[in-house]
Amino acid sequence: MKHILMPFVLSLFVFSNYGFGSQERLAISLSYDDALPSQLDHALPALEKYNFKASFYVVPTAPAFQYRLDEWREIAKLGHELGNHTVFHACSASKPNRMWVPAHNDLDKRPVKSMLEELQVANTLLKAIDGRDERTLTPPCFDEMALGGNYIEAASSLFIAIKSQEDKSKVALIAPANIDAQAIIDFIEQQPDSIKLVNILMHGVGGDHLSITAQEHEKLLQYLDENREKYWVDTYINIMKVLAL
Ligand SMILES: [Zn+2]
Repeated sequence: MKHILMPFVLSLFVFSNYGFGSQERLAISLSYDDALPSQLDHALPALEKYNFKASFYVVPTAPAFQYRLDEWREIAKLGHELGNHTVFHACSASKPNRMWVPAHNDLDKRPVKSMLEELQVANTLLKAIDGRDERTLTPPCFDEMALGGNYIEAASSLFIAIKSQEDKSKVALIAPANIDAQAIIDFIEQQPDSIKLVNILMHGVGGDHLSITAQEHEKLLQYLDENREKYWVDTYINIMKVLAL
């Protein structure tokens, strides 16, 4: 009898870790885009202090990626996710307020096939750093249309999940910049029961662009830590593997 029950008990254990227990709680994905130095200096130590795993959508051309490669390798070893954010971070210059998009990096002029190859290069580069075969994508600027078509739709087979392509009725997103922790907490608490995942998409933490202060960032983590019975904080890839939203 004992050996017959064993597989059942084991499968229950697996479910309680990754299934039922997780799904009852609202999933929270903390992500940090663009490989900014303030993420290494401020966000990472705070995440480690509260033992939360997060996702870093890196841009390989960013100086903080090129010159601090060992730290990104270490971040992956700690269980955080290194996510694909393309290689060059091309965005559409034709959209409003896109004066900052340089002519050589204009998504409007980049063929879909070039973008697909770029995404593959980024996946290979990240694999060389963390050894992982599975990857998620955050499209730069959430733009989708390249020259000749939608490159995000064309790239779906390369990724476990793509941020912005989830079921909108079940996923909410906030990209905090120059706001305090309470505004983010209010956003989380105001979500209806139909929402299963809140993406908190950050850039600078205590520096760099679109930033929140290190103090407010820590307040947010402290709140999530104090409410672990309500929230399942994990990497975007871990959450999407379970919830498949
Ligand atoms: Zn970005």
